[in-house]
Amino acid sequence: MYTEDNLIQLSALQHMVFCPRQCALIHVEQTWAESGRTAEGRIMHERVHEQDAESRGNVRIERGVPLRSLRLGLIGKSDVVEFHKIGEGKWIPFPIEYKLGKPKADDCDKVQLCAQAMCLEEMLGVEVSSGAIFYGRTRRRLDVEFDDALRRETGEAAKKTHELIESGITPKPVYAKRCESCSLAAECLPKTIQKKRSVKNYLARILVE
Ligand code: SF4
Repeated sequence: MYTEDNLIQLSALQHMVFCPRQCALIHVEQTWAESGRTAEGRIMHERVHEQDAESRGNVRIERGVPLRSLRLGLIGKSDVVEFHKIGEGKWIPFPIEYKLGKPKADDCDKVQLCAQAMCLEEMLGVEVSSGAIFYGRTRRRLDVEFDDALRRETGEAAKKTHELIESGITPKPVYAKRCESCSLAAECLPKTIQKKRSVKNYLARILVE
């Protein structure tokens, strides 16, 4: 169990699963590059959070819902939580996250959403079995089941993110396909640093030989 004093941002899990170096650059070194794309994302989230709560039939829609889990050590906000009425006085939360782009090859968005669900479960004492991610580029909603495997992955990601942030050490860059869509590519310089490292290693090797 964590305490109020050592909670980390829930969004850090998404950064961690995408790339540990990106997570450390943002949450350890406080590096943030506002590009056209990240600005668009920020504005989209702000717009979603500003809208008032509303009811549509048996669904109550709340926006910008504060979230916290002492079990995972997380604090954050959900874009939208729909509360589905299943009986007199009984409501089941259904978290929805908005993303600008399209579904990704890894589970980073699903882990972020699952962490939101696990916060809601701890806060409200109910089971949250599913949620959805709405992708702006494809204008499609991806339904996500919070099964055991995703819950395990989310718990692991939270643990590793705490360890990374507490260590204060930023991992070295490893160039991969994900770097092409990384908002911090210009600050991280993965190709340049990796090349410098391999030249340095080569020189160290031939000097020893
Ligand atoms: S550019 Fe690549 S290595 Fe660097 S932070 Fe982004 S994803 Fe990670």
